[in-house]
Amino acid sequence: MRRHEGVFPRQTRIVSTLGLCPGEDWKEFLESMTSTGMDVLRLNLSHSDADYQKERTILAWARESIADGEAPRVATLIDLQGPKARIGTVADPGIELRVDAEVFLRPEAAEGGEGVVIPLPEGTGDAVVSAARVMLESPSENKPVQILLGDGDLVLEVIGIEPAGGIRARVVSGGLLTSRKGITVRGIDIDLDPFPEKDRNDLRELLHEGVDLVAVSFVRSANDVERVRRFIEENWKGEGLPPGIVAKIETISALQRFESILESSDVVMIARGDLGLQLGVEEIPLEQKRLARLARDRGKPVIVATQMLESMIEHPSPTRAEATDVFNAILDGGDAIMLSAETSIGVWPIDAVQTMDRIARHAEAYRRGPDGSARRRRGLGEEQFPSGRASMIGRVNEQFALTAVQFAERIPAKAVVSFTRTGGTPRRLARYRPTVPLIAVCNSESVARQLLLSYGVHPIVLRSYEGEEPDLRSLVRTARASLHEHYGLEVGDAIVVTGGIDWPSGGTNALRVMVEDLEDR
Ligand code: PEP
Repeated sequence: MRRHEGVFPRQTRIVSTLGLCPGEDWKEFLESMTSTGMDVLRLNLSHSDADYQKERTILAWARESIADGEAPRVATLIDLQGPKARIGTVADPGIELRVDAEVFLRPEAAEGGEGVVIPLPEGTGDAVVSAARVMLESPSENKPVQILLGDGDLVLEVIGIEPAGGIRARVVSGGLLTSRKGITVRGIDIDLDPFPEKDRNDLRELLHEGVDLVAVSFVRSANDVERVRRFIEENWKGEGLPPGIVAKIETISALQRFESILESSDVVMIARGDLGLQLGVEEIPLEQKRLARLARDRGKPVIVATQMLESMIEHPSPTRAEATDVFNAILDGGDAIMLSAETSIGVWPIDAVQTMDRIARHAEAYRRGPDGSARRRRGLGEEQFPSGRASMIGRVNEQFALTAVQFAERIPAKAVVSFTRTGGTPRRLARYRPTVPLIAVCNSESVARQLLLSYGVHPIVLRSYEGEEPDLRSLVRTARASLHEHYGLEVGDAIVVTGGIDWPSGGTNALRVMVEDLEDR
């Protein structure tokens, strides 16, 4: 499959959430989403089918085997619901919350509560009351304690906790409250089981259906990530790599423990929706920059998510502010930008992907600079790779990554070509957000697909490459047809080739520059 047209393939990755695939033409729809530019297909299991029929059908399509020398079609990501706190069931059509009215949030076991009662289900109720109590008793907080319902349009201010249990509150921002809406106590995480039964079932059902990445919601510590990883390892019977883990950063604890969560996960997602409920929207821009920077510093791919092109749910073009947000998320260091409702329930899914593609290409052209040579990398100091923390082998790997990128940009080369068994070298190269494409020649489809989330990495599957070949020139010969077909390699073009020769798996200790047609063919 040819994933990209033109001289410069898009370097930024697009994650697109799929909802109910429309009617009989679902295959055509998915094919046009990928040919338009979807790199990673996300299924949100908060809305999973009871029998997973929709998920199985889509994943089966995504994992259809590809021919040697081809790029994988798409990577797949399943997003576990996690411990989302929700209110209980209310009578239809919902409860009208009027500004200034008093309401009572009542856990199942609590008593009393006249007037407007919002039921809280067993388990969640006590955890919500405890969270509100901690905030009320917090000496550093002089501000009113707020409870947000749904997407944050409905806001309550806590008056107090009743002796019999339950929270008395006043409506600050009103509207219609319907059943099972999410509930957030601003500024504190609600203490629920981080890996609930639904997540374990979803994972068991879908683990072997062709899933490349599993996103864990409401992560509060590295332990939450490790628990899911252990579960995957214990249940994994597949060939190739088990799915990688994406830690969604959307709780206060995750912000505080970000470095250890980063260490334990393969990818992080800045989940701005729930994070915005916890923090207040004014804090999101700076947190986005901080988290993206730290993730990039550690060489972990980072996805910027939620409301990127929100108005395109209903309209064929985005607002100016949304276009600016997408552009800035790329300059902040995002590997990937994500579409949620825009493509899952929106009327303009293909247009939303096209729009992201156009904005991303503009951001990348800016990064390349007017004369095609890279602008000085801001933010991540070129000298600042984590060599201080690494072993000698690690330091050599890092220095090779930086040198390969700088060298390729200065020539400029058509691409950096990495022969990789584990995906380690291309991920290290991606950290420098290169302005030339990184072509990762992989002998495993699962490694190739997981690389579809890394900035600028364009994987090709070449099963015949066993990773043992000591001669870079012979390796390039095996990949040459793909380089011509997919990336327009022409006579006179230079490529910078990386490899690990007599070197630990996943590392690089060799660089070679080749000029097409001047080398032995
Ligand atoms: C978010 O909260 O930003 C997010 C991505 O999570 P979800 O859409 O799964 O609620």
